[in-house]
Amino acid sequence: MSKIALFPGSFDPITTGHIDIITRGLDLFDKIIVGIGNNAQKNYMFPINDRIQFVKDSLKEYPQVEVMPYDGLTVDFCKTIHAHFILRGVRNAIDFEYEKSIAQMNHAVESSIETVFLITSPIYAPVSSTIVRDLIRHGADVSTFVGEGVKLK
Ligand code: ADP
Repeated sequence: MSKIALFPGSFDPITTGHIDIITRGLDLFDKIIVGIGNNAQKNYMFPINDRIQFVKDSLKEYPQVEVMPYDGLTVDFCKTIHAHFILRGVRNAIDFEYEKSIAQMNHAVESSIETVFLITSPIYAPVSSTIVRDLIRHGADVSTFVGEGVKLK
């Protein structure tokens, strides 16, 4: 049975830190579906179609990576795409505490789905979409922190 993992997030926009986790995850899983959250309550910098395109263009050399938008519960989306694993990256203790609760709750809701964590590579530890968005707002060059497919208008 092929091992399918969901890598869920906002990807607003996709960063080099996300790409590191995805490409390392390909050693563990046959297919990784990047699930781009589209929550009506959230104010994104980039519209869903841009976030999808940025991920697709940044990972185009990896046919085992697919990109799909989703809303609703992450475990429900896992069932839709037949993913038994959720892949997440951990940068620091704050990420760890946050991720631990989500993983425990997801497991309580759906025990057939396991969350797998990869610790960030040190060079990507300070990279976050939040800081990248702040840099973009102030006109800084973010090209070394985002995926190659991220094109700013
Ligand atoms: P969310 O909106 O849920 O915070 P993100 O799109 O920011 O989602 O992140 C998705 C996943 O990528 C999360 O598991 C997050 O911890 C991980 N991640 C984000 N930045 C990095 C990084 N620099 N190194 C490793 N993992 C990261």
